[in-house]
Amino acid sequence: MALLSFAVLWTAACSAPADGAPEGDPTAAPPLPGPEDSNGENDDGGADDGQEGPANGDGPLGDRVVVIDPGHNGGNAEAASEINSLVEVGNGEKACDTVGSETVDGHSEHEFNWDLSLLVKERLEADGVKVVLTREDNESVGPCIDERAEIGNTEEADAALSIHADGGPESGRGFHVITPGEVPGLTEDIVEPSALLAEDIRREYLEGGDIPYADYLADEGLDERTDLGGLNLSTVPKVFLEAGNMRNPEDAELLTDPDWQADAADAIARGLASYLMRD
Ligand SMILES: [Zn+2]
Repeated sequence: MALLSFAVLWTAACSAPADGAPEGDPTAAPPLPGPEDSNGENDDGGADDGQEGPANGDGPLGDRVVVIDPGHNGGNAEAASEINSLVEVGNGEKACDTVGSETVDGHSEHEFNWDLSLLVKERLEADGVKVVLTREDNESVGPCIDERAEIGNTEEADAALSIHADGGPESGRGFHVITPGEVPGLTEDIVEPSALLAEDIRREYLEGGDIPYADYLADEGLDERTDLGGLNLSTVPKVFLEAGNMRNPEDAELLTDPDWQADAADAIARGLASYLMRD
């Protein structure tokens, strides 16, 4: 807690008068907020409708905005024509959205994404961050990927994170973080900060998520792509977390375990907080 307060004072000094708070060394590695910094309100499995919470509240990160994008949506499977309609993604066209993956036992990715997103939201809000979700529930359709990106842009988010879980080969396990590659005229400004965001999330998630780097794609848990509308159309630093492989039995056991989800959310929130404290 003492370390966090130190970082807080320094962060505040950069953005607002801080009552003569001492300035820290800006080159020092940012201390990481731990689960104990979330006021003990974070252990109920995320029974939250996703819509409340303080706007830029009190707390160490009170002047920051994060957009969390829970991938897919529960109504997508019933809305094929809407979901399959094409949207412009800057260098081509893609489907508005997709249905997502599921475990062999039928636990859907959209539900996993939603649950984990709420847990991360809760943790960030405990530190005062304004968190905006790209969808309101887990029963609706969409929104389309271009709208998901637009929400981060409109909010002028300091960071945006899309939460997904992969539908990879059954034998492959692990997580990866997808970063925007350079798309001329679109992503030049976000490539570098997004890579830093990916680094922070990857480090914390590897340590706290108890799940290895993906062994069936990506490179040490990182994959740069230029074909994702959610990244191409973002004007704010943004990455996708593919939190694990739903089709792999070992990963699926973790991904669907509420205790694991709580730990994973702690790790993701620490990664985001670490990124927010970089400047
Ligand atoms: Zn997905």
